[in-house]
Amino acid sequence: MASPLSPDAAGTRHPWYNEAGPASWVNCPMRFALLGPPGAGKGTQADLLASRYGIPKISTGDMLREAARAGTDLGLQAKAYTDHGLLVPDEMILALVRERLARPDSGAGFLLDGFPRTVRQADSLHEMLAQEGLALEAVIDLEVDTEELIRRLSGRRTCPVCERSYHLVGRPPRVPGMCDLSHGALIQRDDDREQVIRERLAEYRRRTAPVLSHYQTQGLLRPVCGQQPADAVTAAIIGQLEKRSN
Ligand SMILES: [Zn+2]
Repeated sequence: MASPLSPDAAGTRHPWYNEAGPASWVNCPMRFALLGPPGAGKGTQADLLASRYGIPKISTGDMLREAARAGTDLGLQAKAYTDHGLLVPDEMILALVRERLARPDSGAGFLLDGFPRTVRQADSLHEMLAQEGLALEAVIDLEVDTEELIRRLSGRRTCPVCERSYHLVGRPPRVPGMCDLSHGALIQRDDDREQVIRERLAEYRRRTAPVLSHYQTQGLLRPVCGQQPADAVTAAIIGQLEKRSN
C-alpha cells in the first residue's frame, strides 16, 4: 500500500505510522473516517471529499445496499436488520470492509463513510491497517441534534421504480407525490418513518459514543457542526483535515 504522498515506495513505513507521531510535512490525513448519525449529510460530504483528495469513498451502507439488491445472503440478512431500524452486526460489516480495503485503489488513501461504528470495529480496523504498517489518521465527527435529524429524515420520499429520493421540504418533486422521472407514486420507506428513525438514532448514539471517546482519547477526533449549509460544512471539514497537527 504505497502512497504517492510519502517516501515509502521502497517499502518502508509511512512516516506518520511510527510512535513519534505525524511527520510535520504531512498536513493532510489521507486515511480518515467520517462519522455522524443518519441524516447528518455524511454521504454528500464524503463524495465531495473523496473527489477533492482523489481517494475512494468506502461506504458500508452503499456496500450493504448493493449486496441487498444483488440478493446475496449477506445482503438479505443485512436488510432484515435495517428494515427493523437496527444496525447490522460487526462481523458482516468487517467482512465487507476487509475485502474493500484489499483492493488496489485503497492503497493511496481512503475515506471511510460511517465506519467504524463500534469499538470492536475500530479495533479490527486498527489491526487490518497495522498489518500493512498503516493507521487511521483522523476521524471527523459530523454532529447534528436529534430533532433536526428527525425533521430531515422523516421528510424523505423515494420512488420505488427508479429509487430517486426526494425531500418534502429540501427537494420536493415537481408534482406532489410523483416522481419527476418515472412518474411513479412516491413512498415513504420503512427506514424513514419517525418511530424507526428514533430507534435508529438512539441505537446509533448508544453504540457510537464509546467509539467517539476512543478516538478522542487517541487525539484523532475532529468535531464538525453539521447544522449549517452544506458548503460551510465542507469548508469546516477541510479546515479540520488540513490544519497542521503539532
Ligand atoms: Zn422514479
